Amino acid sequence: MAVMAVAEKRKACPICGKPADELFRPFCSKRCADVDLNRWLSGVYAVPVTEDEEEDERREDDKPTS
Ligand SMILES: [Zn+2]
Repeated sequence: MAVMAVAEKRKACPICGKPADELFRPFCSKRCADVDLNRWLSGVYAVPVTEDEEEDERREDDKPTS
């Protein structure tokens, strides 16, 4: 919550922290916008795999209890 408030006040680029540019909000440049997009795309692909692994680990944790 506190982080969001600070980001709104300063409007800093979430990638490099420099002041955001009107043209590339919320980023400071097209380059940083591309970096964020790439992060997003790789995150979308990574999420399902991570969730599956976590669920498997929890199930294995439950078994030895009994
Ligand atoms: Zn930037």
